Amino acid sequence: MRTEGGAFGLGGARGASGPAGGTGAKGLGPKVGEPVERLELVKAWLVDPVSGREGPGEIVVTDGILESVVWLEGEEAAGVTDCGVVVAPGFFDLHAHFREPGFEDAETVATGSAAAAHGGYTTVAVMPNTQPALDDPGVLARIQAAARASGSPVEVLAFGAVSAGRTGEQLSAMGELADAGVIGYSDDGSPVRTPKLLRSALLYAGMLGLPVVDHAEDAELTAGAEAHEGYVASVMGLAGWPLAAEVNAVSRDLAVLADALRDEPRARLHLTHVSTAAALDLVRRAKAAGLPVTCDVTPHHLALTDEWIAGARRWAWEALAADGTPRDPWADAALTAWPYDTSLRVNPPLASATDAAACLAALLDGTADAVATDHAPHTVVDKEVEFGKAANGISGIETALGVLLELVDAGKLPLARAIAALTTGPASVLGSWPATAGYPGAQPRGLIEGSPANLVVFDRGDSWKVTPQALLSKGKNSPLLGRELPGRVLLTIAAGRLCYEDPQAGAEE
Ligand SMILES: [Zn+2]
Repeated sequence: MRTEGGAFGLGGARGASGPAGGTGAKGLGPKVGEPVERLELVKAWLVDPVSGREGPGEIVVTDGILESVVWLEGEEAAGVTDCGVVVAPGFFDLHAHFREPGFEDAETVATGSAAAAHGGYTTVAVMPNTQPALDDPGVLARIQAAARASGSPVEVLAFGAVSAGRTGEQLSAMGELADAGVIGYSDDGSPVRTPKLLRSALLYAGMLGLPVVDHAEDAELTAGAEAHEGYVASVMGLAGWPLAAEVNAVSRDLAVLADALRDEPRARLHLTHVSTAAALDLVRRAKAAGLPVTCDVTPHHLALTDEWIAGARRWAWEALAADGTPRDPWADAALTAWPYDTSLRVNPPLASATDAAACLAALLDGTADAVATDHAPHTVVDKEVEFGKAANGISGIETALGVLLELVDAGKLPLARAIAALTTGPASVLGSWPATAGYPGAQPRGLIEGSPANLVVFDRGDSWKVTPQALLSKGKNSPLLGRELPGRVLLTIAAGRLCYEDPQAGAEE
């Protein structure tokens, strides 16, 4: 099927495949999991974060292989802009919770993979705070079996726990976990509990060529805390989460890393969901000093702020005064929603507009290597309680692209940087892992001719409404419910196989 930047159909196993002029009739293309036999996209906007190139182009996928990538110039390129259909490598999420085993009411590997594909993701690294925790190879095998059984081609990678049972007492079976295929270690949900344990973990993980991923939080400072400490929390009567909680933890982690490096030069630290200006400054300086540290920021910390808890619904950059300080949502009469929406309770908490601006600055200058969703689905039961008692987390893997495109549309973030933060950035954080069964492994994630198709196609000119029905995740805990987001995902392909196709994409216009 041949398509000019709009609706398209897929030639597939049972489909009307073939060159230009195929029928494209809905329902004749491949199903999820089946190879994409034929896809031709003409006059689209291609973004290739590996070559650093973006512009008008055409792609052809044949029998699951990205057969050709053609960049258009001159007259052929006329009228093709980055505001229409965009083709990029499939996204890579460094941080998600698929809740299996143990919390299948909130999410499963199958529903998480479906949600990921709807969000444009083809590779997802899941966190080990399952029940039981992913602290031995048997739990990893269960997750891998669930991924195969799901039929989704989305690649599910996993972090092993740093500590046995995630209790922060003793190291997990790190070597066995590495042999079984984990891509790093984390006690996410909690910080690595003690500096001593972190030091040992960095040494072992370094020897194994893997990073330790820390959730930076000084738990002593955050006991009982409900919302980012500041004006909004004070007015709302919520217990403040001190800024020092993240800064302290990042500072500890960097000091321990510097120390561990003297014994193990391969030690590497990744700090996930860094959310405050002061902590990001520490990371920036550590990188400048040559420490092997990387970090990610989340879509929600880039775009939302604590004033949303009071009922504001403007983006973080709209809540910033000209002098760089947060505006007053009450004085601005910016409160348009009910207060205390528990879908906004997240760890680390939504911070000030100044902190959100710092997350963006970090993304722009490379201090932040990646955007990770921290997709944290929860059941209604875990969220329908008073604000401070609600489970932490936002169901965010389906809205990440739309939130980043809001930043692009506002002129705050170049499209190419957004795509890099979703593809090459996260891949660069991890060590190497082998390409298997058509998956790229740690190889560069670009639009690479001759490789198994790993693609997302989305329409920047089309929006979609975030509703519980539209979210494929079991977790409907999104503060963006009811909102229109730009960038409707039309198609996601991993390892040459279909992961997601927009239900309306095959319809004739
Ligand atoms: Zn975390």
